[in-house]
Amino acid sequence: LQKPTANITLGFYSDDLDDGLQSRLKLEAELRTAVEQQQFYLVYQPQIDLSSDRVVGVEALLRWRHPQGESVPPFRFIPILEEMGLISPLGDWILAEACRQQRAWQLQGYTLRMAVNLSPAQFEQLDLPAKIQSIVQAAEVDPGQLELEITESLAMHNPEATIETLHRLRHMGFKIAIDDFGIGFSSLEYLLRFPLDTLKIDRAFVKDITRGRSDRAIVRALTSLCQGLGLTTIAEGVETQRQRDYIDALGATEIQGYLISPPLEPAALIQLIDNYATHAPTLSKACQE
Ligand code: C2E
Ligand code: MG
Ligand code: MG
Ligand code: MG
Repeated sequence: LQKPTANITLGFYSDDLDDGLQSRLKLEAELRTAVEQQQFYLVYQPQIDLSSDRVVGVEALLRWRHPQGESVPPFRFIPILEEMGLISPLGDWILAEACRQQRAWQLQGYTLRMAVNLSPAQFEQLDLPAKIQSIVQAAEVDPGQLELEITESLAMHNPEATIETLHRLRHMGFKIAIDDFGIGFSSLEYLLRFPLDTLKIDRAFVKDITRGRSDRAIVRALTSLCQGLGLTTIAEGVETQRQRDYIDALGATEIQGYLISPPLEPAALIQLIDNYATHAPTLSKACQE
């Protein structure tokens, strides 16, 4: 906000700039209302274990139901909420809502690992581990079934502080995933020092996996490293069966992507799991016989 204002004062006025500023101010006002009136909701994308072909987890992803009707994707508003200082209270709600949903599913007989994304501003709160613990306890969710995702770039911003916070969260029993891995230039030294359970291979490496030798080499190196360290590897953004076959052959443990399903509302997710349950046992029975 500061830059355009300064430009206007200095006389570098243009209609374009004015339009940009106007729409930004409008968006900020709308977002303030959205937080007050709770116009957000979560969708859930399934994560498939490649060896059993079962849904073993879901990732909670934030959506904004704009009063004008459309559902707004997070890249259009999360960075702005961060700048406005509104992401931390919203982050508390995201965690509580994901836990509430997970508990509800569990009571219906569906035990699913729940992955929740943490934003940089959230991660910087000193009381984050205690806060997460109290939200999860209140929801009566097993911390071992909650996976906290931080991006590689967040983790590398202040690696020493990250390591300490991750240790605290892990002692409380939470699972830790490093998200969008491979594009942030982490050193291997840090990868070894972060206490992790899961590494999510960025979809940039999955995209050209059927074509590029170098992407295949990177994925193979990551999966064998993770195997050696006892980490789960999730390949993100798997869209085709051929990509899935390559990813499987290269040793990843799980996949997530449009091939399986886009993020879904709760009822649709349960329907997808039920479909898997009716198909998969038939297959494995056939294999045993
Ligand atoms: P992410 O955590 O890496 O989430 C995966 C993104 O990839 C999701 O986008 C998902 O819809 C998309 N995706 C999944 N499968 C495919 C595929 O096969 N192809 C393609 N092209 N895309 C696929 P989404 O929901 O738009 O979220 C984008 C990013 O916004 C997330 O990336 C995450 O960084 C952030 N985000 C989303 N929800 C939250 C949240 O609750 N809190 C925070 N702090 N960040 C969030
Ligand atoms: Mg994520
Ligand atoms: Mg990701
Ligand atoms: Mg990503």
